[in-house]
Amino acid sequence: MMVIMKPGHTQTEFDEVMRRIGEAGLEGHPIIGVERTVIGVVGLDRLHPELADDIEVMSGVESTVPISSPYKLCSREFKGDDTIVDINGVKVGEGTVSVIAGPCAVESEEQLMATARAMRERGASMLRGGAFKPRTSPYSFRGLEEDGLKLLAQARQETGLPVVTEVMSEATVQLVAKYADVMQIGARNAQNFFLLEEVAKARKPVLLKRGMSSSMQDWLLAAEYILAKGNRDVILCERGIRTFETATRNTMDINAVPLAKEMSHLPVIADPSHGTGKRRLVGPVALGMVAAGADGLILEVHPNPDHALSDGAQSLTFEDFSSLMARLAKVAQAVGKRMERAAVAA
Ligand code: PEP
Ligand code: MN
Repeated sequence: MMVIMKPGHTQTEFDEVMRRIGEAGLEGHPIIGVERTVIGVVGLDRLHPELADDIEVMSGVESTVPISSPYKLCSREFKGDDTIVDINGVKVGEGTVSVIAGPCAVESEEQLMATARAMRERGASMLRGGAFKPRTSPYSFRGLEEDGLKLLAQARQETGLPVVTEVMSEATVQLVAKYADVMQIGARNAQNFFLLEEVAKARKPVLLKRGMSSSMQDWLLAAEYILAKGNRDVILCERGIRTFETATRNTMDINAVPLAKEMSHLPVIADPSHGTGKRRLVGPVALGMVAAGADGLILEVHPNPDHALSDGAQSLTFEDFSSLMARLAKVAQAVGKRMERAAVAA
């Protein structure tokens, strides 16, 4: 439920309400707005029939309202206005299109630095690159691990681009958090609930991919795990789902973008690289996702895709990326958005 405080309530009245929520074994998550303070009350789904009535008569409280959806803190019912996630000055969800670009995996200093410079010059707002790679086969390249994270930090230092990288295990959350600006949860871990909670506690923005078999509700409940641990900086990412279709790597669910934005206040971006698996489809699908309301894109780009150690077939060349950015700017304008600027170089 939500507790709506009266305008002009006192700090003591607010503290009393929070204390009463805690006493019931639940957690209060306040949103302090300009005009209103609202407290989202979440916790175990036990019945607290008396709690809403008790709180409603407390001093400083205007009303209590149940949240009907199973996901609470990430719902539009709880927070009507869009959440903007600020990553070192890059604002995702502020009526802009943010482009996160870079290689699937960090492979070498030369590869990453060349890509980071090219992405910065061509207008990306953040750099991606996996240091811990979830690979279907244990015999595939699985990433440079901490050496890869160090290279990402070096690329950020030189270009000013914030870095986005995947965290795959609870054991490496602190390590990844030391280097990353945004912690990516991949599709395969999208419902790894202990990992979600551990990542939330690192207090860094989280990019949460949709699981390949996650329904919209599964996806939002995964986000809820992060919000419930007190981390509100979550970016949702549609990256295609598993269907009967085998002509493409995944089936990009364009419905998911406007629908997620209707169901949740969190920013929503799209990953047409994994969504299609095919370089020539990435551009058209990227444009479609932005036209449908995506707040940004995450794109795989490689200096030499044919020699990439992972996901070369879906990686753009620098030239492909430049031409896509020019077309994207037009679509962004058509839907009343502007391209998010790149971060200021360090
Ligand atoms: C990736 O971004 O490189 C990745 C592995 O993505 P996903 O988890 O969506 O497959
Ligand atoms: Mn990849």
